[in-house]
Amino acid sequence: MRVVLVGPPGAGKGTQAQFIASHLSIPKISTGDIFRANVSGGTELGKLAKEYMDRGDLVPDEVTVAMVRDRLAEDDAQEGFLLDGFPRNVPQAEVLKKMLAEFGTALDVVLNLVVEDDEVVRRLAGRRTCRSCGKVWHVLFDPPAVEGVCDACGGELFQRDDDREETIRRRLEVYQEQTSPLISFYADEGILQGVDATGPVEEITQRAMSALRRFAD
Ligand SMILES: [Zn+2]
Repeated sequence: MRVVLVGPPGAGKGTQAQFIASHLSIPKISTGDIFRANVSGGTELGKLAKEYMDRGDLVPDEVTVAMVRDRLAEDDAQEGFLLDGFPRNVPQAEVLKKMLAEFGTALDVVLNLVVEDDEVVRRLAGRRTCRSCGKVWHVLFDPPAVEGVCDACGGELFQRDDDREETIRRRLEVYQEQTSPLISFYADEGILQGVDATGPVEEITQRAMSALRRFAD
């Protein structure tokens, strides 16, 4: 199966990507992994991407697309793949569609992990990080024995700026703005499938798997 996974920050996308890909015995292809592989492997595209990143610039779409194309052409991706982090926008989605058509194939399904903003805030804003050892605790889901103190090393816990409610809400707004055209694009293509991403991790995976069965040939 050829699957794209999308979802807001805090939806547990990385974890679900791994579980779903392993259930389907297909490679999980994330843009982060592709970047790292190209940069550490010293490919021409990796060198080019590194120049942009070293300058603090965004890597242009053409470079990302070329890396994705190379990765999708590899042997292990011929029977299917799960893409995580690509496409990010409609132009990239159109390029992906063309690219797959050249390979004589097409996407089967786009899974959209659906979580309410308030739930994402509850998950992320409760995180507390240890200043000394970096371990992450959660005030509701994984609290330390003594409030504000790391059980592992006795260090002081603090809330990272990234985990503040205002920051999280802003990231969610940006995500919605950038992603809603992409979601509409795939809805129009008739391959969009929403998955309720609340509750235990295993239940979310089960929901995703039964949703996928409807798209399997
Ligand atoms: Zn600690």
